[in-house]
Amino acid sequence: MPAILLPVLLPVPLDRPLDYRSETPIPAGSLVRVPIGARETVGVVWDGPATGGIAPARLKPILGRIEAPALPEPLRRFLEAAARETLTPLGAMLRLVLAVPAALEPPPAPLAYRIAEGGRAARTALERRVLEALAEAGTLPAAELARRARTSRPALARLVETGLIEVVSAEPPPEPTPDPDRAGPILSADQAVAARALVAQVERGEGVALLEGVPGSGKTEVYFEAIAAALRRGKRVLVLLPEIALTAQWLERFTRRFGVEPQLWHSGLTAAQRRKGWRRIAEGRAPVVVGARSALFLPLAELGLVVVDEEHDPSFKQDEGVTYHARDLACLRARLEACPVVLVSATPSLETATAAGAVPGGPSARPGWTHLLLPDRWGGAVMPKVELVDLRRERPPRGSFLSPPVREALGATLEAGEQALLFLNRRGFAPLTLCRACGHRLRCPSCTAWLTAHRLRRRLLCHHCGWSAPEPEHCPACGSVGTLVASGPGVERIAEEARALFPTARIAVVTSDTVGTARAAADLVTSVLAGELDLLVGTQMLAKGHHFPKLTLVAVVDADLGLAGGDPRAAERSFQLLHQVAGRAGRAERPGRVLLQTHDPGHPVMVASARGDRAAFLRAELAEREAAGLPPFGRLAAIVVSGADADEVRELARALARAAPVTEGVRILGPAPAPLALLRGRWRERLLVQARPTVDLPAYLRDWLAGRRVPSRIALEVDVDPVSFL
Ligand code: ADP
Ligand code: ZN
Ligand code: ZN
Repeated sequence: MPAILLPVLLPVPLDRPLDYRSETPIPAGSLVRVPIGARETVGVVWDGPATGGIAPARLKPILGRIEAPALPEPLRRFLEAAARETLTPLGAMLRLVLAVPAALEPPPAPLAYRIAEGGRAARTALERRVLEALAEAGTLPAAELARRARTSRPALARLVETGLIEVVSAEPPPEPTPDPDRAGPILSADQAVAARALVAQVERGEGVALLEGVPGSGKTEVYFEAIAAALRRGKRVLVLLPEIALTAQWLERFTRRFGVEPQLWHSGLTAAQRRKGWRRIAEGRAPVVVGARSALFLPLAELGLVVVDEEHDPSFKQDEGVTYHARDLACLRARLEACPVVLVSATPSLETATAAGAVPGGPSARPGWTHLLLPDRWGGAVMPKVELVDLRRERPPRGSFLSPPVREALGATLEAGEQALLFLNRRGFAPLTLCRACGHRLRCPSCTAWLTAHRLRRRLLCHHCGWSAPEPEHCPACGSVGTLVASGPGVERIAEEARALFPTARIAVVTSDTVGTARAAADLVTSVLAGELDLLVGTQMLAKGHHFPKLTLVAVVDADLGLAGGDPRAAERSFQLLHQVAGRAGRAERPGRVLLQTHDPGHPVMVASARGDRAAFLRAELAEREAAGLPPFGRLAAIVVSGADADEVRELARALARAAPVTEGVRILGPAPAPLALLRGRWRERLLVQARPTVDLPAYLRDWLAGRRVPSRIALEVDVDPVSFL
């Protein structure tokens, strides 16, 4: 029989599948073992004919098939489209799917026993008990038989050898599935309208909906109805959440509504949980998967709904390795699966709001997009009152950071037995340490970044590369002793100030340093809810996801912090963050109060925050973006060239710029040193490509960069639609 040629995609950075030889036809999507070089790897039989060009006799053979379900067709098409959009080799996309190699091993078959065929009679009391138990039940799982016969599993294994009983593989126990028909809450009129619209989309199997509503307006309850609708149709559901919003509270609510826990997927799972979870998903035994951005690449089949909660969250963008935006790819995957997407947010990104026609006075919705708005908080609670504190007039006392109005408000809140939050999006004690004698500033040895002082750990830390060292006793520049001083505030320093002001208050610092694990975060939430803490000092760890009914005051220590730097989305992000933090205050019956300390009370972000006038802010922001040709009125791509030799990097970046094809509607900015000009010891030059919406930017970039060789000591990273501008 002549050998069959099959294209097999391997999880390595190659653009296309390689040809292999097979004795038998194997359907596309099947997982197979193949040789590559001297190694063996798992690949996926790809669609279409083999490439050809190499004599079949010289091709290597497919070694065998993996006992796992084939990758579904829509997932294969998704990987191709995502590779094209993100300029990633197709094989590197596949690697994201096959990220759990252990899951590809056949799972150990669960053991069960039955009476051996033509078996012998019992000779001992133990053997009699074993036979009696099996005569009654037919087959029994090993553990159960050991229990009923009052013996151990090794003892049972010996009985197999003596021919009394034999091994059969046990049926896996049936898994409980989410029940879409358990009663949810009775929806308000607005909620019901939104839920009906989503259910209709699930039934049609298409569309992108923006579900917008202030925190507490019931967005989660509403999209739970859409999940129920998908489950009723026998479809699967993928819910993406930012890692830090994957809270116990969310899981509890899901479980309350649907009766069982969803399949979880995030970086905190153990290796065994990942293996079992992946397998469960691939075998179609997980109807609902909720996970962080990497869940996008799970081998789910028969998707009926994708939800992206907190769609505006920048952490959906993966910046390292394969760069992709999970929200955008979620929309792409849903389109190829013929299923609808719900993007959920209290503060939708300008891109999403524009596409959904959700900016009052802005462009109308793109075809296929709808905007669903939940205007009120459920139960009628009001948004907290936001007040600006002008730091130029209301100066904090020397060497401190909390202004008189904030101190007063804190005092009153604690006096009333309520809780307060001091928000500052900066870990550690101080962002800078400098020498009072010579002015020297302590810098990371391998980055263009100041070292952050962490008093709790008694170390200096680089927040970019993780480098750390104990605080030196003398200045490394002039040698003076005792002259190094911390400059500027971090949360630890704010907590210190608060402790001095309110010595009896129970204060907790909440950052990834202090509540980095899911367990620690859950403990913190419990103590806040139990009223065991009075004052939280925290970073954006705290900005979302939690309901703290007794928290009635939020003070933002430095509302201007997010506005610096060359990021075109800085204003939008600041507004979102401030809005979200504000949403922590007064969610129950108690009205909340929010104070924003700022040096620039006239800034559009501050004015809009104080007035609560999001529409006006968005309109103004949109007009500016349009004038500048920035997203959503144009696309950007960042190309970063990096290496250890600054001159070589600069030369290469310049050569790259010179080689850029000249095309109508594309502008190349740079090269210029990236804002983080040195990172982990590598010099970085950046080019920004700005394209009109009519330009196919990925195609342009491919054209330009295809076949361009750089020495292996130089890295060339392409980030289409960048979110970070460092
Ligand atoms: P969001 O997702 O917009 O922040 P949630 O869905 O979390 O809002 O709702 C906020 C709170 O109000 C939750 O505790 C939720 O259970 C409750 N809630 C919302 N809508 C209703 C409703 N129609 N009936 C009862 N409780 C509701
Ligand atoms: Zn000095
Ligand atoms: Zn560093």
